[in-house]
Amino acid sequence: GGGGAGLVVRDLSVGYGPVRALREVSLEVPEGAVVTVLGGNGAGKTTLLRAVSRTLAFHGGTVTGGTVSLGDRRLDGLPPDRVVAAGVCQVPEGRQVFARMTVADNLRAGTFGSSGGRTARAAALRRVHELFPVLAERAQQHAGLLSGGEQQMLAVGRALMAAPKVLLLDEPSLGLAPLMAERIADTVREINDQGTSVLLVEQNAAIALRLADRAYVLEVGEVTLSGPADELAASDEVRRRYLGVV
Ligand code: ATP
Repeated sequence: GGGGAGLVVRDLSVGYGPVRALREVSLEVPEGAVVTVLGGNGAGKTTLLRAVSRTLAFHGGTVTGGTVSLGDRRLDGLPPDRVVAAGVCQVPEGRQVFARMTVADNLRAGTFGSSGGRTARAAALRRVHELFPVLAERAQQHAGLLSGGEQQMLAVGRALMAAPKVLLLDEPSLGLAPLMAERIADTVREINDQGTSVLLVEQNAAIALRLADRAYVLEVGEVTLSGPADELAASDEVRRRYLGVV
């Protein structure tokens, strides 16, 4: 309890065989908030999202301790499709779209596991098309023909098709030109304004801290700093290590 319908991660520990990737990580995404997790390569950011979405087993990882809940509902122990049905949906790193399927079919695939009926699906598709008009224009094209930025839009749009309460976003700006990264950031803001909470994992700390209400710094599997995003953005430590300010 404590956070309304917020996402609460408590003392979460994860291992890949003998490798300990997360050690007693605790964080909270209050309802309606954007929360970002910063950290360098291998800090455990992707692992955290996989543990929340319960897709860790597909990558050879196991949760060795801790809990994940959404409001009163425990998510740890659920299969991944039930986590989606509970309202938590992950956009994986690297714009993993189905390249040989059409844009429309990619979006349709995003509704598998969601709890909504036909009307909810139609509303979700309208929302995605409003956020990303290009996905309506290219509906019948193969997803593999889209640009990198458009594929990222499709990956986000597919996750939104399940009408999640909480969107888990793994490095949405990775590998995108700065202008496209800014556009994706604007859309994340818009998605949040529409009421979806966001847990955003980013190496681009400048973008992430601008979007987020609250931020956590993850180093070698442990939370070393956390606080309001504007306070972290002003801290010497974060400026030096993550914002490249000397
Ligand atoms: P990046 O930004 O490079 O993706 P990250 O912060 O997302 O980094 P993770 O990918 O979560 O970090 O990795 C955390 C640790 O777990 C690293 O030591 C990594 O080598 C290890 N790891 C990640 N995935 C696996 C896996 N499938 N099998 C074994 N070890 C893994």
